[in-house]
Amino acid sequence: MFAKPLRLLLLSTPVGPLGSGLGGGVELTLKNIAQELIQRGHTIQIVAPEGSEIAGLPIAPISGTLQTTAQTQGRNAPITLPNQSVLGKMWDYARRCQQDYDVLINFAYDWLPFYLTPFFTRPIAHLVSMGSLTDAMDSVIEQTIAQFPGTIAVHSHAQAATFSGSDRFRCVKNGLDLSLYTFCPEPENALGWVGRIAPEKGIEDAIGAACRAGIPLKIWGAMPEPDYWQQICERHPGEGFSYEGFLGTQELQAALGKCQGLLMTPKWVEAFGNVAIEALACGVPVIAYERGGPSEIVQPGKTGWLVEPDQVDELVAAIHQLDAIDRYTCRQQAEAEYSMRAMGDRMEAWLEEILTHFSSH
Ligand code: UDP
Repeated sequence: MFAKPLRLLLLSTPVGPLGSGLGGGVELTLKNIAQELIQRGHTIQIVAPEGSEIAGLPIAPISGTLQTTAQTQGRNAPITLPNQSVLGKMWDYARRCQQDYDVLINFAYDWLPFYLTPFFTRPIAHLVSMGSLTDAMDSVIEQTIAQFPGTIAVHSHAQAATFSGSDRFRCVKNGLDLSLYTFCPEPENALGWVGRIAPEKGIEDAIGAACRAGIPLKIWGAMPEPDYWQQICERHPGEGFSYEGFLGTQELQAALGKCQGLLMTPKWVEAFGNVAIEALACGVPVIAYERGGPSEIVQPGKTGWLVEPDQVDELVAAIHQLDAIDRYTCRQQAEAEYSMRAMGDRMEAWLEEILTHFSSH
């Protein structure tokens, strides 16, 4: 495909160090893309906030103040950068060493890297990890895609549809190292919920549905705002749910695999939902609101159920139909669509198109 292996600079999210969970799914996405591209012979350097850790991958740590997450702000939110911005420093690092790389890959959902794109001499590939959230981001994404067609990728068509001109975005879905996820044929009496414990993730609907179905709900995920979790506990006293912590992939998949089903109840257009494919990889069916990425992943009646968004009754009905799903079919879907190989092929095709376009201009 490529005349010679690529030299790639991967710029991480500035909202938290890799491994902290504060970055959400983008942390696992970056790790898997880096590992697969290395496996294919490319040279990778990751730039990420200080404190980042991924065993075996080269990380240039950058100190500085973390960025606030975009999903907590309103549509009219202005662009803000704190003093000593880690985002600014990461892109200063990129500017200084860009000549050593063929392509820079941006994983940050932030205005600055898009704005800086025309000022760089090397091509920048932007992998956008969330749907439209603010007008300022929409504008800068629009400018970038008009000036550098093909350089912006998303994880699902539903995510692309939140922006204007959705057919201009390349959809690369996502993938997993399936060897790390063990198929579990026999579940226990539990349902699972996995994700950042934040309002846009709609955890209360899952708690309500599991409670009415009479099956305990186990919850795993990063907790950026403990007060928010405290309020949920106060609103649902005595209901059958438990917080099981934020786990590494190995422990998470072992525990998640024992669930009868994973509930995904997002209140926003989930860009993809890594946790959906992680569940499938363990043989766990997914019950999701028909909204965003999960609606393109779940095959209703085969690997889970899609229900009308915000309808807890329908979640309960779907929970009662989990027996109709063959767990091995779930694992097979993950293998067919979301392997590292499938993801690597999609990434390489995207990068090739960007390089072809740049070399002809
Ligand atoms: N996750 C994890 N440990 C946990 C719970 C979650 O590592 O205990 C990870 C999970 O593997 C997934 C991410 O958190 O990659 C959540 O990503 P997702 O795409 O589902 O949602 P996002 O947070 O990006 O909106």
